[in-house]
Amino acid sequence: MPPKVDMAKCTGCAACYDVCPADPKVFEIKDKKSHVVHKDACIECGACESGCPENAIVME
Ligand code: SF4
Ligand code: SF4
Repeated sequence: MPPKVDMAKCTGCAACYDVCPADPKVFEIKDKKSHVVHKDACIECGACESGCPENAIVME
């Protein structure tokens, strides 16, 4: 399942965006938060979840 971002924890560092191999990227960084905008593009690699320094991402 695609990732879900905990907005209370997210700092907008963009590590998830940078690491995401999907095309288009699943995330969009806006207003210092990461938003899941291309859910269907997710290949469920888990890189965003393990790469988030705030543990703000969980795979649903
Ligand atoms: S890596 Fe984590 S803290 Fe950084 S923008 Fe993504 S969800 Fe937010
Ligand atoms: S699981 Fe992989 S493809 Fe899906 S959003 Fe995270 S980094 Fe991108």
